Amino acid sequence: MKQRSEQSERSPVRAKRVTGKSWKEIPIGGLIDKAGSAAEYKTGDWRTFRPVRDEKKCVHCLICWMYCPDSSILVKDKKMAGFDYEHCKGCGICASVCPVKCIKMEKE
Ligand code: SF4
Ligand code: SF4
Repeated sequence: MKQRSEQSERSPVRAKRVTGKSWKEIPIGGLIDKAGSAAEYKTGDWRTFRPVRDEKKCVHCLICWMYCPDSSILVKDKKMAGFDYEHCKGCGICASVCPVKCIKMEKE
């Protein structure tokens, strides 16, 4: 049953709730018809693995911030401050590039 409710959370009905559009109204080919709209799409719900950081090991080099394709590394006072899980897609690039291997990818 849980699986079914998870599926419905990813359904076109949910897409309409999030974007205000049904999938039938999305432009053909996924064309971006409005610039600067990426932040409106909460791509974090695509994720199957989430990055988790060991704060004690982190040296705040911000290499993860440079490589993250979704701008999901949070920075405060020039230090790594965590992840924006609403937009992180769980690609694992941050974990791959971290020089001290303090990011682990954990199953959602
Ligand atoms: S790459 Fe690793 S050590 Fe560097 S800021 Fe990111 S988590 Fe910290
Ligand atoms: S898993 Fe990918 S999207 Fe998420 S914070 Fe790391 S690099 Fe960015």
